[in-house]
Amino acid sequence: MNGKKKPGVLLHVCCAPDSTAVFEKLSPGFEVFGFFHNPNIYPANEYHKRLAEARKVAQELGFSLIVPAFDPESWRRAVQGLEDEPEGGDRCAVCFRVNLRATARKAQELGVPFFTTTLTISPHKDSERILRIGREAGSEFGVSFLGENFKKRDGFKRSLELSRDLGLYRQGYCGCRFSLRKDPPDA
Ligand code: SF4
Repeated sequence: MNGKKKPGVLLHVCCAPDSTAVFEKLSPGFEVFGFFHNPNIYPANEYHKRLAEARKVAQELGFSLIVPAFDPESWRRAVQGLEDEPEGGDRCAVCFRVNLRATARKAQELGVPFFTTTLTISPHKDSERILRIGREAGSEFGVSFLGENFKKRDGFKRSLELSRDLGLYRQGYCGCRFSLRKDPPDA
């Protein structure tokens, strides 16, 4: 260490397993603050289960985790009309935008100069699309988006190793009610 203070980055944490390898990648160069903004997660008990796991990672790896109020209704309104979209379609673009705009807004409010997201580590998600939406959110709120594709250089594989070491729960679906394979319950 040369004694210089590391710049802050607000990391949108989509889930605990994905945050492990992303934190490992960012922490040498940044002071990382986690931000668990995921109003897309359904049902509520799944949200709380994923949040508990994210808290566990934050504690184990040593970063603070900011948790805003859970507001699934605002997410439902944002994706209204896109319920029948396939996974990877237009609903997902709106979902990414909801989470990345909230992260950029929070970074601006906190005076944290950078923000980014764990979302690009997933092999199931279109990183280019996430990065474009992140850059747009950064411009809107005047915060720099760290546009890194975390799945590169075996990022996902590393997240599997670290998750296994920490004994983390790995969810079986992306998160929203429409990504559940079975018919969603009426709730
Ligand atoms: S499938 Fe995943 S990314 Fe797409 S809308 Fe649902 S939770 Fe969001």
